[in-house]
Amino acid sequence: MKNNNLNFLSLFFVVFVCFGSYAFAETELEQSLTECKSLEDDQPQQAITLAESILSHMSKEENAVIYGQFLGCAAWAYANNNEINEAQNKATELEALSTQLDASEDKVDLLRRTGSIFHRTGNRIAAVDNYQKAMDMAESLNLKKPQIAILSNLGVLNSQIREHELAIANYYLALKLMAELGDNSYQAPVLFNLAITLNGEGRYKESLPLLEKVEAMITDQWPDSRVAQVYSGLAVAHNALDSHNLALAYIEKALALLSKESIQSIEYYGTLVAYAEVLIALDQAQSALQQADTAWQYYQLDENREQLLSVNNPLYALANVYEDVQRPLKALAVRKLAAEIDAEFQDSFNKEAMAQMQARLSDSQQRKELAELKAQQAKDKIELIAAQHNRQLTLMLVVFGSILVLAFLFWQRRVNKRLHAISIRDSLTQLGNRRAIREWMANRKFPQPPKIRLMWLIDLDMFKHINDQYGHEAGDEVLIALAQTLLGCTNDQRFVGRWGGEEFMLITDDISKHVMSDFCDHLLSAIAQTEINYMDKIISVTASVGVSQMKGTDKKAWHEALTTADKALYRAKDKGRNCVICGDIKTP
Ligand code: GH3
Ligand code: MG
Ligand code: MG
Repeated sequence: MKNNNLNFLSLFFVVFVCFGSYAFAETELEQSLTECKSLEDDQPQQAITLAESILSHMSKEENAVIYGQFLGCAAWAYANNNEINEAQNKATELEALSTQLDASEDKVDLLRRTGSIFHRTGNRIAAVDNYQKAMDMAESLNLKKPQIAILSNLGVLNSQIREHELAIANYYLALKLMAELGDNSYQAPVLFNLAITLNGEGRYKESLPLLEKVEAMITDQWPDSRVAQVYSGLAVAHNALDSHNLALAYIEKALALLSKESIQSIEYYGTLVAYAEVLIALDQAQSALQQADTAWQYYQLDENREQLLSVNNPLYALANVYEDVQRPLKALAVRKLAAEIDAEFQDSFNKEAMAQMQARLSDSQQRKELAELKAQQAKDKIELIAAQHNRQLTLMLVVFGSILVLAFLFWQRRVNKRLHAISIRDSLTQLGNRRAIREWMANRKFPQPPKIRLMWLIDLDMFKHINDQYGHEAGDEVLIALAQTLLGCTNDQRFVGRWGGEEFMLITDDISKHVMSDFCDHLLSAIAQTEINYMDKIISVTASVGVSQMKGTDKKAWHEALTTADKALYRAKDKGRNCVICGDIKTP
């Protein structure tokens, strides 16, 4: 009996010790994690050492979530330590690990963490990918608080890739969720980012009350540069809404803060451009020119190009200033650089997408090789076992292979979709596509006093016959040649894009009545004289054109102009083609 008791006691002791040490190990890990997170921003090297040593002693399978959190901590610290490759490797590892977890709040956190590391290290495509996955999961689990954080990350990222409408939608949704939860911890940055983005889109009536709300939230803790941005945003909105003196007061406050910094930042020069806009409104063209020149000197320097690429292109505003103070040549030079910066931005984004695709492809290539290796090993075994097993294994291989192919196709489809989405260029003619046309419209503010712009919808005549007679390839050649012709009809103030199929769109500044008919003749004859030599046959084509006036850059003005131009185009076709009909313009 005594013996029995003793056995029972020792068993109890062993269980107690095991459980105790397990619990102890758990809390110790959690403590280390808290420590790692507290070090990752200010002492990244120490955070890396701590995280790496724990990762090397820990099994991924046993506690995947904590393992992932350490991976995240290490990655973030590597990023802070400027070891971008290491950071990205850890993020990739974290991405793979998170994907395997079951749906949970922890998984949402890890996906968001992965997104922010990719975001931080410049892989914006992988960042969107992971933010989006985190968002989907948070939505499906109805976790509102994480959604707020993800939406605010997504907003910033979308602004950076110049998807402003998406960014605005992200911020508004975040605010809505905050109101529902009564949780305002993210309110100030989200309101601020939203207001600045709205300003950039010219939606001043919406941005002004938001900026006023942000202004009321400013505390001593805010860095000067951030406060200055709020003031500068208020100035821009007030100026656009005709409160020029108030705008001037805010600009002065912003400049006072920004000039405190020892090295002037890109924000400082952006504020100078806003200052110039205010001065123009106050009829002080000479001082406006001085501010514009200072900013222009800064923007032109090669060493500042990186900075220009990282913000929304501020050069269009500067070009408008030069136009307003009657310096067309300077405006032209600024627009040229603006276009270069935009092209470089687009280019870097395309390269990024390409690199991403290659990484994914080589990843699946590796997986394929691995599968082949496994298949080989399996085959060796198969020879030793019975024919029945043989069949089963083959079946498994087929299933495994199919999954692999499906995964590969799935990736390829996603990457293609993204490449398509970011491309604003028409691959056949190399002209801008519809989206490029809209962007061009949105980026060019109307000079003051408001001017009118013309929309030219150009549809080739009987183009189907060309395809039928000479083949589709010949048709394509004609489209390419015409794109070049139309480019020849444009200048810095004009834009040409492919509207779709065999339709092009030309946007020009208003053309005075006495040269209108010359321009129309020139346009029609330039098109008619474009000849291509296809397999020793000379092909040419004519076009019908509908023109309309666009009295603003907003959606309404755009749709009205489009409808009018479209109707005019129909009338041109009705009238016998190869002619221009002006929808709402008094023709000469
Ligand atoms: P019209 O406009 O004068 O009434 O006659 P159309 O023959 O041009 O009329 P429709 O708009 O019906 O036909 C347009 C044709 O343009 C149909 C399509 O095959 C052709 N097309 C559209 N896009 C392309 C393209 O990218 N390449 C080629 N080769 N043809 C195209
Ligand atoms: Mg057509
Ligand atoms: Mg046609």
